[in-house]
Amino acid sequence: MRDRKPDTRLAEAGRRKEWTAGIVNPPVWRASTILFDSVEAMAAANPPRDGVLHYGRNGTPTSWALGEALTELEPGAAATRLYPSGSGAVAGALLAVLQAGDELLMADSAYGPTRALCDTVLKRFGVATRYYDPLVGEGIAELIGERTRAVFMESPGTHTFEVQDVPGICAVARERGLVTLLDNTWATPLFFPAMAAGVDLSILACTKYIGGHSDLMLGAVTATKAYAARLDQARRVLGQAAAPDDSWLALRGLRTLGVRLERHQSNALEVALWLSQQPQVTRVLHPALPDCPGHEFWVRDFRGSSGLFSFVLRGGDDLAVARLIDGLELFGIGYSWGGFESLAVPADLVRTATSPEWEGPIVRLHIGLEDAGDLIADLAAGLERFGAAP
Ligand SMILES: *Cc1c(COP(=O)(O)O)cnc(C)c1O
Repeated sequence: MRDRKPDTRLAEAGRRKEWTAGIVNPPVWRASTILFDSVEAMAAANPPRDGVLHYGRNGTPTSWALGEALTELEPGAAATRLYPSGSGAVAGALLAVLQAGDELLMADSAYGPTRALCDTVLKRFGVATRYYDPLVGEGIAELIGERTRAVFMESPGTHTFEVQDVPGICAVARERGLVTLLDNTWATPLFFPAMAAGVDLSILACTKYIGGHSDLMLGAVTATKAYAARLDQARRVLGQAAAPDDSWLALRGLRTLGVRLERHQSNALEVALWLSQQPQVTRVLHPALPDCPGHEFWVRDFRGSSGLFSFVLRGGDDLAVARLIDGLELFGIGYSWGGFESLAVPADLVRTATSPEWEGPIVRLHIGLEDAGDLIADLAAGLERFGAAP
């Protein structure tokens, strides 16, 4: 299985006969209680492990199939655990590796709720967070102190799309005995194989591209052999169980991830290039374009780009930005992304990073699977509304 190309794995992975009974995509198994034939059989199901029905919280063939499929997509991975949301996966991964007294190095461009976790719950439990410039690269070495235990990366950054030198940071971290975590939601293992770059724990908000249809909440953490048991233990005692229906939908979505990402990529590039030529736009923050901070790492490390990026407007106030966005006909206004449909949000609403100051307001777009020309026409009208604002 391991030597197959990613597109083939997407079609094949997780479809063990004993989990599917011949049905092409593993069906939904819903369960709390599992009944055993005898006390001896019940004892034999301990400790809980994938492939042996034990109790609903420890999964059923539906979640094992999705977990196995995600593991197979990530060369170098040993196991995947599922969580009720992407944020649940971030928390599950961090709580598995940290303890009171530790310091965590966190990318300053990380997803807002990830920062909030650090600044509230982790802080209360005695873990200190130090935010670092996402572009620090091997310079991370200078930030490592006696108590530093883990480095968390998110590449590219949530609203400002800084691409990190993940292999460089991981090499330093490994040398210093630190654990590395990456939120790989934007690229997925198809566009950035995280374990091959040296990452110990790779996190996906499956809510986004894995599901792909804006109708489920799910997270996953894929771990190397060294961290798989710890991750599993933390998930179990924290009671983080993924819903069978959402796991099933995510596995269904996973089958078409390759073709969807290709279209997200080509559509987003077309829109981004067009935007970069508009007089109202000063800069397009898209990892595949040279203006994006860390673009050189994208060129070196990534196999593609997905549908989410931002652009910076020339001047303009909140009202002008709202006029641009409110009138769009093909872009929804809402949180999340990764579905088949396009979205637009003012990045300021959700902006949290302490680092970059841009020259104007930022709009974040998720480019869906619609016709790129139609999306461009919609945005052209939006930029005119923006320009016409007082
Ligand atoms: C959305 C998102 C998450 C959280 O996922 P949820 O399923 O919404 O909890 C985590 N990281 C990134 C980068 C995200 O975009």
